[in-house]
Amino acid sequence: MEQLTFLAVHAHPDDEASSSGGLYRLLADQGVRTVLVTCTNGECGDALDGAKPDADHHDGDEVAKIRAVELDNAVKILGIDRLIRLGYRDSGMMGWPQNDDPESFWSTPVDVAATRLAKILNEERPQVVMTYNEYGFYGHPDHIQANRITLAALALIDYAPTLYYNAIPDSVMATYRARWEQEEREQREADAAKGIVREPENEDDEDERPDLGTPDEEIGAIVDISSVNGSKFDALEAHQSQIADSFWMKMGREQFIDVMRSEWFVRVTNPMGLDGCVDDIFAGYR
Ligand SMILES: [Zn+2]
Repeated sequence: MEQLTFLAVHAHPDDEASSSGGLYRLLADQGVRTVLVTCTNGECGDALDGAKPDADHHDGDEVAKIRAVELDNAVKILGIDRLIRLGYRDSGMMGWPQNDDPESFWSTPVDVAATRLAKILNEERPQVVMTYNEYGFYGHPDHIQANRITLAALALIDYAPTLYYNAIPDSVMATYRARWEQEEREQREADAAKGIVREPENEDDEDERPDLGTPDEEIGAIVDISSVNGSKFDALEAHQSQIADSFWMKMGREQFIDVMRSEWFVRVTNPMGLDGCVDDIFAGYR
């Protein structure tokens, strides 16, 4: 039988765990070859002391070094066969000065990065490719750029893989929102009990949050990751320097295993002519 290969294009170290950690581990367990392309080094992440990139002593190169080791650890946990780092500098959030760094991923011409990615695709010939949608899932420039180079690279190769975007269905997003609001309420109550008064949340900011959910009927694959979601948690936890505010870590491993039982994808290209929502991202190939 033909070797099955999966390749995902991710923006930063830790994205492989958060949006496809379960899928990676599951596919590895099934004997599928798994490849990860990480576009940036994550220089705009938190420093070890929690400092954000706008802090004077935040050293992006130092952060990148730490994150490189964390990524290696996550790759081991998820059983990923090959990691390719494109090595671009993290562009930061939209509008940050890091966007304009000539070495940033955002400043890199799409065709330049796409040519590199196309070379990898031609080598690996994955049947299934995954990245983010054209909004980069939540509007981060590096995620948007990952989408752009993936689409451009697919136009450069001589075969047509099935492309999926990671997604969270609206119905699931509603349960996350309820949980976030609950956490905020509890925090406010705990603060109030200690006599701390926090500034009220700015309602306008709230409205500007991008709509992260995808209509349920647009989901093209729902993958049951309940057999491997402990590994997904461990891979998230491997990104030690970045998890201080993590929703998942606050949940704890036990509850995470209980709750985070699926990953969802939108099918973007459909060379195998699949109908409706499938439960296997390699549907049509095995
Ligand atoms: Zn990211």
